[in-house]
Amino acid sequence: MPITLPALPYDLAALEPHLTKENLELHHGKHHNAYVVNLNKLLDGKPEANKSLEDIIMSSDGGVFNNAAQIWNHTFYWNSMKPKGGGAPTGKLAEAIIRDFGSFDKFKEEFTAAATTQFGSGWAWLVVDGGKLKVTKTGNADLPMKYKQKALLTIDVWEHAYYPSFKNLRPKYIETFLNSLANWDFAAANFAQA
Ligand code: MN
Repeated sequence: MPITLPALPYDLAALEPHLTKENLELHHGKHHNAYVVNLNKLLDGKPEANKSLEDIIMSSDGGVFNNAAQIWNHTFYWNSMKPKGGGAPTGKLAEAIIRDFGSFDKFKEEFTAAATTQFGSGWAWLVVDGGKLKVTKTGNADLPMKYKQKALLTIDVWEHAYYPSFKNLRPKYIETFLNSLANWDFAAANFAQA
């Protein structure tokens, strides 16, 4: 069964004015799709082609890992945002953020610092690691499941993620993600499974 490109969970223009329709067309239709096309080419006719995406990620390296992990990361990223997102989480996730970071503002500081200081391409994450919430960053296609961490929320800080809308202003993109895009319902649903 070839891996397929998951549809966006909202319209291409749904995250405007923050991330433009053109930005999402490129990012989902070209970048995310290219990882799908590349992975299917690499696995064509091989037994791994029948594994789940997660199994492929956990048992591969090199080009197969990079493309498989980027497919997973991007699907997770699209779900980490929603129209009229941002604000603060509620319920058990809010309690755990206060328990492990001290306050929601302190979490935002750590997440912003991780996303800002990831040198070059990569991702910043909110994860559960050994029962505790943590902010992490990963380079290129690397991702929390490799470290037995449960991902709750991510931001893509590859330049292709924000250049069409924010040019070189990565800090402005990160601030906008937290204030207007972050999908705390998705993070809370992931936390409930952790
Ligand atoms: Mn990307």
